[in-house]
Amino acid sequence: MTLAIDTPARARTVERVIRGMPASDGAGVRLNRVIGTPQLGDLDPFLMLDQFGSDQPGDYLAGFPDHPHRGFETVTYMIAGRMRHRDNHGHEGLLVPGSVQWMTAGRGIVHSEMPEQEEGLMAGFQLWVNLPAKDKMCAPRYQEFAPESIPVVAPADGVEIKVIAGRVGEVEGPISAVATDPTYLDVALQPGARYVHAVPVGHTAFAYVFEGALQVGGRRVERGELAVFGDGEQVEFASAVLAGRALLIAGRPLREPIAKYGPFVMNTPQEIHQAIADLRAGRF
Ligand code: FE
Repeated sequence: MTLAIDTPARARTVERVIRGMPASDGAGVRLNRVIGTPQLGDLDPFLMLDQFGSDQPGDYLAGFPDHPHRGFETVTYMIAGRMRHRDNHGHEGLLVPGSVQWMTAGRGIVHSEMPEQEEGLMAGFQLWVNLPAKDKMCAPRYQEFAPESIPVVAPADGVEIKVIAGRVGEVEGPISAVATDPTYLDVALQPGARYVHAVPVGHTAFAYVFEGALQVGGRRVERGELAVFGDGEQVEFASAVLAGRALLIAGRPLREPIAKYGPFVMNTPQEIHQAIADLRAGRF
């Protein structure tokens, strides 16, 4: 005879809360760097998280002129404003508010990301996701989705979630076949709401609050703060008097050596030298 015991799912607690730091990138775009700083170098497989957000054209107009990438993925999620991207393989597109571009740079592209506006608010996120050694030299791939192709679900009262990658209940985000099996959700809670999300055990997970404030894993996290979760089966979000909005991002860690030089992320210094040589020789 077996005795069925209903064990509650193991909740993930918050191990660290970190605030980003001001940084400048591209041709002088001002941004807040949250991952990829002296304080938080990386969260395997996530190498960098930048938040950009300004209504001062001087903070963003210079944009990100031609630059290379090799060995990882860049994920751009636009909240406000318009950004045009163009690469050296003839791929071009316009990112509008609410759209997502998941670019697998693989063996290499050279591209530009430039604002397509001269005034008004420009806001969003760029996340860098590492690729496993076996995929670092894959063919470049783009997954681009307009806001209307990103499902919005309301799994509980006062909770609204945009499902970019991963799933909420039966609803799956449009991003597919990414090596690290990522979750990327935009979670908004009205005052007094609560939401519990199952995250695969062993995946790295974090929440970045970008509006209001939230209780994340039982801990108060303010706008501009990133909460790193310990391991477990689920994460919990709740709001009190304030509404709040956060990115919930998770993925399978790679546990591989990282050799990083600017926009090249490989496994060994030798592969970085090769990337530089390939770029110089026009092999991107
Ligand atoms: Fe780029």
